[in-house]
Amino acid sequence: MDAARSLLEVKLREFDPQIDRLIRDEMRRNEETINLIASENYPPKSAMKAISSMLSGVYSEGYPGERYYRGLENIDKIESLAVSRAKKVFGAEHANVQALSGSVANIAAYLSLLEIGDQILSMDIGAGGHLSHGAKVNIVSKLFRVTQYGVDPHTGLLDYDKIREMALNVRPRLVVCGASAYPRTIDYARFEGIAREVGAYLMADMAHIAGLVATGNHPNPVPHCDIVTTTTHKTLRMTRGALILCRQEHAAKLDRAVFPLLQGGPHQANIAAIAVGLEHLSTYEYKDYIRRVLANARLLATELQRLGLTISTGGTDNHLLLLDLSPQEIDGDRVSTLLEEANIIVNKNRVPGDKGTAQKPFGIRLGSPALTTRGLGPDEILSIARWIADVILHPEDQALRARIRAEVIDLCRRFPIYRSTF
Ligand SMILES: *Cc1c(COP(=O)(O)O)cnc(C)c1O
Repeated sequence: MDAARSLLEVKLREFDPQIDRLIRDEMRRNEETINLIASENYPPKSAMKAISSMLSGVYSEGYPGERYYRGLENIDKIESLAVSRAKKVFGAEHANVQALSGSVANIAAYLSLLEIGDQILSMDIGAGGHLSHGAKVNIVSKLFRVTQYGVDPHTGLLDYDKIREMALNVRPRLVVCGASAYPRTIDYARFEGIAREVGAYLMADMAHIAGLVATGNHPNPVPHCDIVTTTTHKTLRMTRGALILCRQEHAAKLDRAVFPLLQGGPHQANIAAIAVGLEHLSTYEYKDYIRRVLANARLLATELQRLGLTISTGGTDNHLLLLDLSPQEIDGDRVSTLLEEANIIVNKNRVPGDKGTAQKPFGIRLGSPALTTRGLGPDEILSIARWIADVILHPEDQALRARIRAEVIDLCRRFPIYRSTF
């Protein structure tokens, strides 16, 4: 073999032992920790096979049947399959599968419905909204005028009457609903009524709950909205990417907003992986998985409450819950660091009525999707709740965290994420 060809064939382990090692370390870290990050999950091997295929080098600007390069007959079929599967799963008239991530999908959605400078009404990041809904530090707040609603500081719930009042005041061109940290069902019909009344478009970002929607465990926003966006890697359990679903009347503008307005060529390996992931959603196994995600989240909330901790809104309707640490007077930054010492991974999060800051909020967010993927059920949830409560109630006890860490590793060994090597 000539030298240039041998570069093409050499295995990662031989060519770049440093990166190979770090990937293995990361796999091991995952195997030995309990992941309660509500936005994370473990993708299926079938999807990872697709994303690590030769397609990861493909260039394919344009859309199936209207590309700027030749040689894309197989790629066109793959993207068309992804599109038709996405439409079918969510009952949408049109789907775009090219957005590189959820944030970019949202910007594409805004650009397809709005003119620069138009008014948006969306949920505040501090109340559970997302950066890309117009947070101060995000480009969206520089391109558009953004007014944001929150949740009731006492109940933690969306106050639809108040949102309606704000809409009547600011007269938005677009109302955005959907959140990254809202543990309750979202009433899309109610949002539709508000948007209609003020003559605004309605968009839902269902990134967190799309898996619940796909399996009929949360109302589907698609019939109520002009555009619906979602990431693919949270409850949907695919590799990282995004879907944008819309009514036919917005299809052409949406496709042009993704390409050429915002992006060049799409990542076709990931589109293939998303097509595979979409095929998972209609299986019995996936529906059962989501059912267990919900049961695990509910049980975790009840058990933490029984152990004396406070859950914002008093519980959860979905895959996540917000633990309010203000009664314990310990901040979420500290708690997440202490839990990591015990191999329990969470993220700090603001909670309704939070008196802390973004760096030191008085809450943590807990989600059940990843741990349910590795097969943890009610028995394990009870242990996890006890470990979390123990760490929070005894923050000075380092030996306790070491003991829990050993128990966590032991539990993780009994529930490997992937049962065979790659
Ligand atoms: C995760 C998330 C996103 C953005 O995802 P990225 O892929 O990280 O850009 C957008 N909206 C909501 C509600 C999310 O939770």
